[in-house]
Amino acid sequence: MTDDVRNVIIIGSGPAGYTAGLYSARALLEPLMFAGYMSGGQLMLTSDIENFPGYPEGIGGPEMMIQLREQAEKFGLEVQDKNVEKVDFSERPFKVWVEGELFLSKSVIICTGAESIWLGAEGEDEQKGRGISTCATCDGAFFREQEVLVIGGGDSAMEEATFLTRFASKVTLLHRRDVFRASKVMYERAAKHPKIEIKTFSSVKSWLSDDSGLSGAILEDPRDGSTEEISCTGAFIAIGHKPITGFLDKQIETDESGYILAKIHTMTSVPGIFAAGDVVDTRYRQAITAAGMGCQAAMDAEKWLEDQH
Ligand SMILES: Cc1cc2nc3c(=O)[nH]c(=O)nc-3n(C[C@H](O)[C@H](O)[C@H](O)COP(=O)(O)OP(=O)(O)OC[C@H]3O[C@@H](n4cnc5c(N)ncnc54)[C@H](O)[C@@H]3O)c2cc1C
Repeated sequence: MTDDVRNVIIIGSGPAGYTAGLYSARALLEPLMFAGYMSGGQLMLTSDIENFPGYPEGIGGPEMMIQLREQAEKFGLEVQDKNVEKVDFSERPFKVWVEGELFLSKSVIICTGAESIWLGAEGEDEQKGRGISTCATCDGAFFREQEVLVIGGGDSAMEEATFLTRFASKVTLLHRRDVFRASKVMYERAAKHPKIEIKTFSSVKSWLSDDSGLSGAILEDPRDGSTEEISCTGAFIAIGHKPITGFLDKQIETDESGYILAKIHTMTSVPGIFAAGDVVDTRYRQAITAAGMGCQAAMDAEKWLEDQH
């Protein structure tokens, strides 16, 4: 138990968290960050980022996250590489438990992101961020004139497949059933595209690779277990995202999928608790948008703290 009450605790160390840390440190709020189980966030999983402004040659994901951390620490952000286990937002100061230790804070900024759901097929871990991705906007341009797979049956899968036709020579969309969750218009746009082939009753059993990376997949028909091989150098898994909000134990309002709902700007249903980045974002899910929201949340927290006096 500590008597020390912080101005701001930031939970999560992706682009949203570090930007919130940078802004609140420069506002002299002496922020404390818990970086969590994946210090640096999702970009630690990717090799090249070509769409973050300011890096004309592109930059490696881990390298960018180290730079964001250094920049925020330079202005006074205190970072602990620990995971928040639970919180109590029912009274102020707010309580945050971290590996058995209790921390108190006048405000909290939640930046815990959303995990992509992976298939978990054999050989997947080795090819993550190399040939297998969960973000066509981020990685599509690496697959010019190549054959790629998209896995999924919802709107995101249709959107990713259609987007990838700009680069890929062929896009094969795999779905394990013959009924699609996607809206009719999105499905038809994909189905009519000359570069897209839709294969139903098809799921990935295992990934194949050679010295240069992903080379194909073994597909399985779930009806009878029969298999076939397909070649591809890229694959995009589009079966959904899961926001990391379980540790909040329903203390702030979320939508039915668990994404935090912003009430006034970046403030959540509990005054003094703010949220930024993929944990609130069901639409854009980009480093730059997460960073932008981190800035907004820090400025909102600063203003809110000021208004409390
Ligand atoms: C393979 C891949 C490639 C991508 N490529 C690009 C790209 O090229 N360009 C681009 O703009 N976007 C890209 N993205 C998307 C981008 O990574 C995300 O939009 C961005 O990282 C979201 O930032 P965030 O700060 O909201 O959360 P995240 O980066 O997801 O970070 C969440 C943080 O929360 C922490 N955390 C979670 N639970 C707890 C807890 N209980 N206690 C403490 N901390 C916790 C984690 O440790 C992590 O640090 C890519 C994503 C993936 C998966």
